[in-house]
Amino acid sequence: MERYYQPEIETASPEEIAAIQSENLLRTVKRVYENVPFYREKMDKAGVRPEDIRSAKDLYKLPFSYKQDLRDTYPYGLFATPLKDVVRLHASSGTTGKQIVAGYTRKDLDIWAECCARALTAAGCTQEDIVHVAYGYGLFTGGLGADGGGLRIGAMTVPVSSGNTQRQVTILKDFGSTILCCTPSYAMHIAEVLYESGYTKDDISLKAGVFGAEPWTNEMRRVIEDKLGIKAYDIYGLTEVMGPGVSFECCEQTGMHINEDHFIVEVINPDTGEVLPDDTQGELVFTCITKEAFPILRYRTRDIGVITRKKCSCGRTLAKMTKPRGRTDDMLIIRGVNVFPSQIETVLLDEGYTANYLILVDRVNNTDTMEVQVEISSEQFSDTVKELAKREKKLAEALKSLLGVSAKVRLLEPNSIARSVGKAVRVVDKRKLLD
Ligand code: ADP
Ligand code: ZN
Repeated sequence: MERYYQPEIETASPEEIAAIQSENLLRTVKRVYENVPFYREKMDKAGVRPEDIRSAKDLYKLPFSYKQDLRDTYPYGLFATPLKDVVRLHASSGTTGKQIVAGYTRKDLDIWAECCARALTAAGCTQEDIVHVAYGYGLFTGGLGADGGGLRIGAMTVPVSSGNTQRQVTILKDFGSTILCCTPSYAMHIAEVLYESGYTKDDISLKAGVFGAEPWTNEMRRVIEDKLGIKAYDIYGLTEVMGPGVSFECCEQTGMHINEDHFIVEVINPDTGEVLPDDTQGELVFTCITKEAFPILRYRTRDIGVITRKKCSCGRTLAKMTKPRGRTDDMLIIRGVNVFPSQIETVLLDEGYTANYLILVDRVNNTDTMEVQVEISSEQFSDTVKELAKREKKLAEALKSLLGVSAKVRLLEPNSIARSVGKAVRVVDKRKLLD
């Protein structure tokens, strides 16, 4: 039986959600128009006045916001409250350029904790649980975000932060952590160190994991679940919109419920900006409707996904988004073919390899080249040279058939690729250095 943190919202009717969204959107639009010159100018330019937004259905009339807008107004230009009301700052790690800054009032932190409490509750967390947070603490939203959710539920929350993996294992064992929160790639690494240290899933008490902040495949989910003896749930968010907890997975594990009382989601055609119907793939766009300090409107996430309102077996009525398969800027174009790193991950895990891999892209004689390096397990490592060559060939064929473009394969010995404790870096695109 699934537990809800706030059934009155999580199982509300579509009409009830629409009413909440309209009321909050109107208030937010009016507030930013009055308080943030950036939005006022942008709306004036687009010929939209706050009065033109009469319900959430009018959202499409508002101009989009982009990451570049955050950079242009860095650090506080988009804040809608005086700085004295801001009680916390976070910044994105800046994986794709200059860092961006987000501010939170006391109420914003409160709502964030509520969103993360819903996520943890959906993963089975109660007051009885021990929540081990191995997302990084600091400016990154992962650590303090998950922490806020654990505290809100009243679970024993352990702020381990990321890194020192041996110690993570000791803490899991000694403290009896029951829920692990970290990036999926770090969960894999923790599992690896657990087994390297001579333990197995039977030596720890974990029952669930809440993993996000980076794309990961269902194949990877199965490996993590198996290694750690848990059920692994996805959680999504971004600094610009709030942090983790914008959406979260339930027991059905087929997508993440969006906290629609706080965020309105749209899917658009990234090339034309046209709003697309449900169940169609496109770029996810979020509007914050309850945030005080940093309520971003129609933010272009560049994350590619699908929204669905089909009935979910957990009973929640909140719309669901599929696992984003990556950002448009993570997509590689190899000799004209679009390739997402997550597709490569699917093939590798399906073929029995580890999730320790690296994709090297280059341009040689005006032609794109792609090399997939993946570690083999110690058992595979003892194979003969002939067997290894056969393996490489088989993997290259599997990649070619799924991606539609050929890649060179290189099998590496165990432990030759650096492990990450946060967001994993899977792609080295040397073409970017040439451009
Ligand atoms: P940065 O932009 O510096 O990476 P953020 O932590 O704000 O910092 O990153 C948010 C981004 O991380 C999202 O836009 C999305 O691309 C990715 N992300 C977050 N959670 C997930 C998830 N569960 N699945 C796939 N991608 C995710
Ligand atoms: Zn559900």
